[in-house]
Amino acid sequence: MKACLAVVLSLVSGACLAQTAYPETEAAAAWRGLAASYVRKALRDQTLDRDPVLNARVDAAMAAVAVAVAAIDPRFAQSTWKALLIEDFGRGAAAFPGEIILIDAKFVRALQLNDDELALILSHEAAHVLAGHALAKLSFMAEQLGKEKVPTARTALLEFLARDSYAAAFQPKERLQEREADALGAAIFLATGYDTQRALALFDKLARLETREEGGAADSHDAASARKRTVSRVFEELQKLPARRGK
Ligand SMILES: [Zn+2]
Repeated sequence: MKACLAVVLSLVSGACLAQTAYPETEAAAAWRGLAASYVRKALRDQTLDRDPVLNARVDAAMAAVAVAVAAIDPRFAQSTWKALLIEDFGRGAAAFPGEIILIDAKFVRALQLNDDELALILSHEAAHVLAGHALAKLSFMAEQLGKEKVPTARTALLEFLARDSYAAAFQPKERLQEREADALGAAIFLATGYDTQRALALFDKLARLETREEGGAADSHDAASARKRTVSRVFEELQKLPARRGK
């Protein structure tokens, strides 16, 4: 799979694998704390989705993605990934170090996501974790403010969350991260064996939701049509590789 990864990373800018300002364990712990606070809030507000059928579908897709990730990146060979559905989470999905993915149950229902689309979303989110994107946000804060102002990963994260202006300043980098997650996520998805064509329908659904501003300069994602092209291209490139495994 190493060759596959090299191909994938050659397809994207690869701007996100920069050195980090805080030790990885410290930065990961800060983000894990944030994920835990979202889960605690969901428990308190009773917004953890309890639909057994939907939860079983998400668990199955997450399990397949976890196996694919372990095959691609040995750092995650022993990892336990968990995807949790939260009603009104506020964004489609978010990934955290500690291999936690939070998904908006409302988003899943509104788009009537099939299993292949769910697996593609989870692959994209897992890719953010593999690429260390959350950690890069904290390094960005250290760069912006200096380590004296944000001496620890936790202070950098709290500062990042405190002001929208930081997210705005990080936005150009975030867009590169999103492209990288789409490309690397496509490689992960391909290793799951789910259906690529059915999964790509996700972008047609997202396109129908797009307002005119989306995909514009202020949005961290490219337009759905461009994302579909990126992901399709990775599928095609990887399917051409002679050493590709099974499905
Ligand atoms: Zn993303």
